[in-house]
Amino acid sequence: MVRGETILVTGGAGFIGSNFVPYFLENSPNEQLVNLDNLTYAGELSNLEEIADNPNYTFIKGDICDRKLIEKLFEKYHFDGVIHFAAESHVDNSITNPGAFINTNITGTFNLIDVAKTHWMSAPFQYIKGKENNRFHHISTDEVYGTLGETGLFKEDTHYAPNSPYSASKAASDFVVRSYYHTYGMNVVTTNCSNNYGPKQHNEKLIPTIIRKAINGEQIPIYGDGNNIRDWLYVLDHCKGIDLAYKLGKSGETYNIGGRNERNNLYIVDAICSILDELKPSKKSYKEQITFVKDRPGHDFRYAIDATKIEKELGWKADENFESGIRKTINWYLKKYNK
Ligand code: NAD
Repeated sequence: MVRGETILVTGGAGFIGSNFVPYFLENSPNEQLVNLDNLTYAGELSNLEEIADNPNYTFIKGDICDRKLIEKLFEKYHFDGVIHFAAESHVDNSITNPGAFINTNITGTFNLIDVAKTHWMSAPFQYIKGKENNRFHHISTDEVYGTLGETGLFKEDTHYAPNSPYSASKAASDFVVRSYYHTYGMNVVTTNCSNNYGPKQHNEKLIPTIIRKAINGEQIPIYGDGNNIRDWLYVLDHCKGIDLAYKLGKSGETYNIGGRNERNNLYIVDAICSILDELKPSKKSYKEQITFVKDRPGHDFRYAIDATKIEKELGWKADENFESGIRKTINWYLKKYNK
């Protein structure tokens, strides 16, 4: 699809955004991307060094909660689309500081979609001429569905049952976006993805923590008994799904993205230690550094995605399984931590 659009990406300096921006610029050379990111502790401009000089790319430091700024940007750049990643994203932080999650994830999303509506539409179900194809793509998580038992999968029509302040704030933002489709006829699409891993993820998250603590000779902390299960997806596979849903997804629809790669935390830590034992052998196996720590309050037991809809309707498929993706990931972090 060659469109020559200008797209606002939010949160492009974070983990998934900074994988998405270079992927998108390479695959859509006719599009201009403006990346709005507040550079919170989670944003890292060095993650975007590879495209910093790309003529189709502009970075702006700013807060999605600052409505005046968003209005100014829409007036200046006349965005044809929004791909909205920016969020507070770490469940542990949402337990200690839920207010930041309510502000950014709910108010920030509302600001963006509401300003987009006023710039693109003249009345409910009436797009301004030439703006009919302008789209708002909201990036969300499978955590909005709550927790699963031993069996079952999250489908697009699974009832929402968020359990943490993080997932509750994401669920609220999904509903805001949904309401703009039903009430105003806005062209929106939402993708709900499972746990991502890969290069450029913040140090605080599980997989970078395991790798870093292992090679630093520190104890590797695993919550509870390590039996919690997540459906792990390599970040570039997520980026490919977002690209497809943004370009080809049906307005008003949601698409679940997940790799059919359910693994529990014990498996993850064991697999990473085995690969590190091979790539960077130490005197003892890294597995001896594994320790179990008090569980996270309200820790969901299992998440798993049924990705049939995006596979069948948009032709998406994951290229990596956990075992291939984790090797690439470990190699990337070994370079980073050995610098
Ligand atoms: P991240 O925490 O790594 O990055 C978030 C980015 O948003 C950072 O660059 C940060 O500076 C920016 N940001 C935060 N608040 C902002 C604000 N008020 N204004 C402007 N920028 C702000 O997050 P991530 O892991 O890359 O996640 C991106 C999106 O994907 C989020 O919406 C998240 O809910 C969703 N998601 C993440 C995962 C995952 O496994 N990481 C899975 C499914 C969905």
